[in-house]
Amino acid sequence: MGKNYDVPAERQAAYYIGMLMLVIGLILFISPMCTAVDAVRESSDSFLDKRTGNPMLSSEPGAMFQTHRKVTDSLPLALVGMGLFAVGAILMSVGRSGPAGSGLVLNPRQEVEDLEPFSRAQGRMLGQMLDEALPSDDSGSAIKVRCRHCRALNDEHDKFCGQCGQEL
Ligand SMILES: [Zn+2]
Repeated sequence: MGKNYDVPAERQAAYYIGMLMLVIGLILFISPMCTAVDAVRESSDSFLDKRTGNPMLSSEPGAMFQTHRKVTDSLPLALVGMGLFAVGAILMSVGRSGPAGSGLVLNPRQEVEDLEPFSRAQGRMLGQMLDEALPSDDSGSAIKVRCRHCRALNDEHDKFCGQCGQEL
């Protein structure tokens, strides 16, 4: 059984597309907020009498309606942005950990396979830590040859002693 240890290309693509959707969704979600704030500020300015600073409700009766329309017009865009954001987040998670690894599909066996690149990376880190922690001439089954001249231990394939340089 040939094992693919790398994250598949389609999952990488899903991750990056998800990230893109997340960013676009965020922009779509935030920009209507800005227009809404702007519209409210604009209209509240026009409601104030320029000389006295008092509200003058009699003038421009359509202004309030205008503001309301601007805000409601931008509301669907904010919802689309929220949707994009959510879908993007799911795509990123699926791309990162695979459909089972991200919990989208309940399949423990597939989950282990999906998360293999990550668990393997962790295993490799653990292996490196063990390599550093353990003394190097304790490395298991390698056959050692003792030098006849200085009694130092050498690998069985070595031609010359690493300690004294004499032929083994
Ligand atoms: Zn030697």
